[in-house]
Amino acid sequence: MTGVMTTESQAIMARARQLFPGGVNSPVRAFGGVGGEPFVVQRGEGPYIWDADGNRYIDYVLSWGPLVLGHAAPVVLDALHDVMQRGTSFGIPTGLEVQLAELIVQRMPHIEMLRFTSSGTEAAMSIARVARAATGRDAILKFDGCYHGHADSFLVKAGSGVATLNLPNSPGVPAVLAALTYTAPFNDLEAVRAVAMQVPLAAILIEPIIGNAGFIEPLPGFLAGLRQIADETGALLVFDEVMTGFRIAYGGAVERFGVTPDLTAFGKVIGGGLPVAAYGGRRDLMQQVAPSGSVYQAGTLSGNPLAMAGGLATLTSLTPELHAIISRRTSTLVQGLRDVMQKADVPFSASSAGSMWGFFFHPGPVTNFAEARQSDVPLFNRFFHAARERGVYLAPSAFEAAFMSAAHGDDVITDTLERLSDAIRVAKS
Ligand SMILES: *Cc1c(COP(=O)(O)O)cnc(C)c1O
Repeated sequence: MTGVMTTESQAIMARARQLFPGGVNSPVRAFGGVGGEPFVVQRGEGPYIWDADGNRYIDYVLSWGPLVLGHAAPVVLDALHDVMQRGTSFGIPTGLEVQLAELIVQRMPHIEMLRFTSSGTEAAMSIARVARAATGRDAILKFDGCYHGHADSFLVKAGSGVATLNLPNSPGVPAVLAALTYTAPFNDLEAVRAVAMQVPLAAILIEPIIGNAGFIEPLPGFLAGLRQIADETGALLVFDEVMTGFRIAYGGAVERFGVTPDLTAFGKVIGGGLPVAAYGGRRDLMQQVAPSGSVYQAGTLSGNPLAMAGGLATLTSLTPELHAIISRRTSTLVQGLRDVMQKADVPFSASSAGSMWGFFFHPGPVTNFAEARQSDVPLFNRFFHAARERGVYLAPSAFEAAFMSAAHGDDVITDTLERLSDAIRVAKS
């Protein structure tokens, strides 16, 4: 891009490529889907991040979802500073764990009991174990395009990260294990029913709104239909709210859709940018987890005080009023983007739920991953780079959701729309 000049980002990435597979510590960061080379971030503040060369971007990735208050939110930094003075890790129960759990349970009363982990992967993996133990069944069903972390059982049709690399499944996953993971297209109740009637399923797992195959919402009645099929066939219903929790509604998917799962995975926002995830739900199921039950699951840094403090500060600040403000601004941004794309005369559909949003270069409606794949990916890739060159950072894949934070004010939205209007003009030609 810059010819012979080497930027600071490029210099650091050159060293990173010697050390990390693909130069990164999580595959989507490598720009495999959009091409080109990732920049190296130096700092963030509010809605902005700056790369190692001092370029500023308005950030709609927000660490892939957690930063609902924006970068370096003072309340989070203050909480971390306070807690840090008293030590960083104990491996002994703390009051902070109880406080964060109480906040989650207050907002989502169907979470009767929970367990903190350090990543969404662990949360989803542990749920599968609990579901298998509780039902005495081995098979699970997930949806094409849904991502539930990288545990062996879930790396089957797992959405953006793997789809972008054209790896539908992963080598290294034992075939006997992958054979226990059934898949169905999102929004296809008949396909789910067909599997569930034939195979004794331990669990039906779903992202209630898909955020890992782009942003795809359930059709009316779909989640309720899953609840019914689960009840009829003895399977547990699991919502993976690692991405949607505390984003699509103040009370998550249960509030938004009125359907209650047996177990739920959380992550991202509940740590406010620190490594926190959790799984929980029905008390009778969670009591099967060690040491009250015999389903083993553990973690040296689970419930880490700094991580708990990040989550507590974030969820305490995220009041229903603030959630409503961010949601309204998200709608404003999405409507503005629709107008921009209509003027540019490109096939486009976009939507939002709370502070989570997404778009496809596809006339819509997009109701499953197969339809998402029919969107104009080359146009997305050109648009991504044009946006980035104009100071707007979108997720580097046509199959990722986008986010908003409390720090993205109306002026930032207006600024974004101007930059993106220019970006699509360039990307189109
Ligand atoms: C991000 C994500 C995960 C995995 O969480 P990690 O913390 O990255 O392990 C699981 N499920 C969903 C829906 C996610 O978006």
